[in-house]
Amino acid sequence: REKQLIRSEKLKAAGELAAGFVHEIRNPITTIRGFLQIMKEEKIMQDKPYFPIIFQEIDRVNRIITDFLTFAKPNTSFHNVPTDLNQVIDEVLLLFESQMPMKNILIDKNLMPIPKTVLDPTFIKQVFINLIQNAIDAMPHGGSLTISTRYEMTNQQIEIIFQDTGIGMNKTTIEKLGTPFFTMKEKGTGLGLMISYRIIQELNGKITVDSQQGLGTTFTIHLPITNQNRKSE
Ligand code: ADP
Ligand code: MG
Repeated sequence: REKQLIRSEKLKAAGELAAGFVHEIRNPITTIRGFLQIMKEEKIMQDKPYFPIIFQEIDRVNRIITDFLTFAKPNTSFHNVPTDLNQVIDEVLLLFESQMPMKNILIDKNLMPIPKTVLDPTFIKQVFINLIQNAIDAMPHGGSLTISTRYEMTNQQIEIIFQDTGIGMNKTTIEKLGTPFFTMKEKGTGLGLMISYRIIQELNGKITVDSQQGLGTTFTIHLPITNQNRKSE
């Protein structure tokens, strides 16, 4: 019990530190990008071959912090509160709503009534964002993403499933998932799953993956609804 208490505090402390950090990086990057945009419009240095590279690299830094902590705000204090995970899924899906039709991706929601879960929504949102983004990336020619939730009364856990009809993965790739900076994408960061696995671990949950090349991938999360270590504050 003592050990678990420390784990939850660790997520909170690491989160607050990371939020400050991400915010401090994001602000100057936004300013630099803004001035670059002006230079482009005023046709300054446009003949230089390295000019577009500056843009690309800035966008890369932005992707890294988005995969890491999308909702970082300065001086954030994290709080564990009873959270409706079905509602969190809906909120996160809103962020992707506009790009889904363009990419021919169909969202199939299968959300059962579930009890509230005590946690800080910021972290689990990051997990959902990373899993949904990966599913989208895996379906370049469209497909469907099925998101299901249900309550397992016997062990008092919530089950959340993300199932896509994308390119899938072979065994070697599956084994490397969660390794920092492991990516198969040209512009990937290899941070999304690493962060997501750690968050689920800190919440005393479990995440598993089942994938078949050419058919699709299923990520399944189990989260306990209450936990001695996750008292609501
Ligand atoms: P990134 O998305 O930046 O590459 P991630 O940690 O999110 O980093 O994912 C690591 C790798 O795992 C991806 O590059 C991809 O090869 C593989 N992957 C993750 N999710 C899926 C998925 N749903 N379908 C197919 N491959 C996936
Ligand atoms: Mg990713």
